[in-house]
Amino acid sequence: MTGTGERHAVVVGGSLAGMLTARVLSAHARVTVVERDRLDEAGAGGPRPGIPQARHTHVFVEGGQLALEKLLPGILAELSARGALPVGMPYDLVQHQSGRWYERFEASTRFLSCTRRLLDAVVRERVLAEGGVDLLAGTEVTGLVGDAARVRGVRVRKRGAAEDPYEIGADLVVDASGRTSRMPSWLREIGADAPDEETIDTGQGYATQLYRPRPGAEEPGYHCLYFLPDAEQPLTGVVLRVEGGLWVASLSGPRGSEPPTDPAGFLDFARQYPHPYLRDWLSTMEPVGNVHSNRSTANIRHYYERSGHRPAGFLAIGDALCAFNPIYGQGMTVAAQQAVALREVLGRGGGLPARGGGSAARGGGSPARGGGFVRGGGFLRGGGRGGASTRAVQRALAGVVSTPWAISAGADRAIPGVESTGPGPNALDRLTGRYLRRVAAIVPGDPGAGRHYRSVLSLTAPPARLFHPRVALPALFRAPRATPLEPPLVVEGWRGAEHVAG
Ligand SMILES: Cc1cc2nc3c(=O)[nH]c(=O)nc-3n(C[C@H](O)[C@H](O)[C@H](O)COP(=O)(O)OP(=O)(O)OC[C@H]3O[C@@H](n4cnc5c(N)ncnc54)[C@H](O)[C@@H]3O)c2cc1C
Repeated sequence: MTGTGERHAVVVGGSLAGMLTARVLSAHARVTVVERDRLDEAGAGGPRPGIPQARHTHVFVEGGQLALEKLLPGILAELSARGALPVGMPYDLVQHQSGRWYERFEASTRFLSCTRRLLDAVVRERVLAEGGVDLLAGTEVTGLVGDAARVRGVRVRKRGAAEDPYEIGADLVVDASGRTSRMPSWLREIGADAPDEETIDTGQGYATQLYRPRPGAEEPGYHCLYFLPDAEQPLTGVVLRVEGGLWVASLSGPRGSEPPTDPAGFLDFARQYPHPYLRDWLSTMEPVGNVHSNRSTANIRHYYERSGHRPAGFLAIGDALCAFNPIYGQGMTVAAQQAVALREVLGRGGGLPARGGGSAARGGGSPARGGGFVRGGGFLRGGGRGGASTRAVQRALAGVVSTPWAISAGADRAIPGVESTGPGPNALDRLTGRYLRRVAAIVPGDPGAGRHYRSVLSLTAPPARLFHPRVALPALFRAPRATPLEPPLVVEGWRGAEHVAG
């Protein structure tokens, strides 16, 4: 609290979820983003230590782009102007799935391709330029201030400085510190309950190498080479054009099939994919820097919206709320969609979650009356001015997670060797899994079914769209149409080249 009546929100973590959350909250409060990294650590925008995943391929699907544009109008044009590339699916891809190469039909959706360095820098610059947000970089949050009824701020320490830790007061603290968030133990430290947690871990391992085409090399007639895994073939491989004339190659496989990280082993691993083109093409390019690995790929969901002793004045968002196996390319989109949901629920509720009144809150009401902190009710409402209840806001954020969670957790539960704290696949999951395998077999040759399939994976349509007659009929009753026998490296009159920035 500022003491002047102006409200203050602290966001823990200044990556994508944190900056977009700050943008939304700045309409209702003064906002401070506390970020552990010094942003000059590896050049502004990273890769920096706090987001090691930034070295790996990141696709930003259409659902996320639409959300980002709502939050920061004009940003997609700015990203394009700075080299981000719209990649039309399936037109701009040479894509292999379920033993087939995709026909390169006219694109039905586009994902955005660029490095995280570029995306994060543009988002951060825009959010800070809009005003109302202070960024405290090089500062680590080490715990919460408050009690089980109400969070009143955060404890922080300046990194690498001899100064003592200090406190920053806040009416609202939002955890956007990513998949390694320590918030569950910080909540326990102030006497509140940690959320229920579900983990589904296939042990997916990534290895990524940046490449530059050698001088005089022929310009490929596509933006992305993409191998998807299936029941027989567990490896995922993406080679993606990014800004600056570079290509990022990420190879990955589940536990027991992880790629090595030495340059020779990396290239050798590429031999295991269903076609020699991947390895042959990579070996023509010049590696830039080292091969980097990442094994932090489990699906991890924290059920903060469920009942329990949870304090008012606290929310979780982004990967801190729910992190996904990255092979499904969902995390950044979900972060942006959650920020839009936050904006909507705060707009409807009239501002930040209600302030509430600390000690008066404990046991001071019933869930039915919505008056105070109660076991089972979990959040505090009333006692301060304005705002939706914290739980209503947290529920809205959790609502965004359901579809992507169904996609990634649903698919991963069935992967051999998966380690999971939740229930295993039931009969319905197995039936759905069989159906989805049939869908995956028809989409490479069927533009109509492919359009619906891609709209679900791009998080612009609900999973029910996969049961649309245009998908279900061919999947259940027709043999897959013929598709190219060799990788379709060339499409006559390919128009993707016009987007390529130098
Ligand atoms: C290998 C890999 C590939 C991926 N590929 C894709 C993809 O293709 N498409 C996609 O949409 N998503 C992808 N993701 C997911 C994506 O990276 C995240 O969803 C995205 O970065 C949003 O996360 P976030 O902002 O919630 O957290 P993060 O990006 O993890 O950021 C957390 C921030 O909090 C800071 N922080 C942490 N602790 C503290 C503290 N105590 N005090 C202060 N600051 C702190 C960190 O320094 C960091 O800046 C991938 C993830 C991985 C691991």
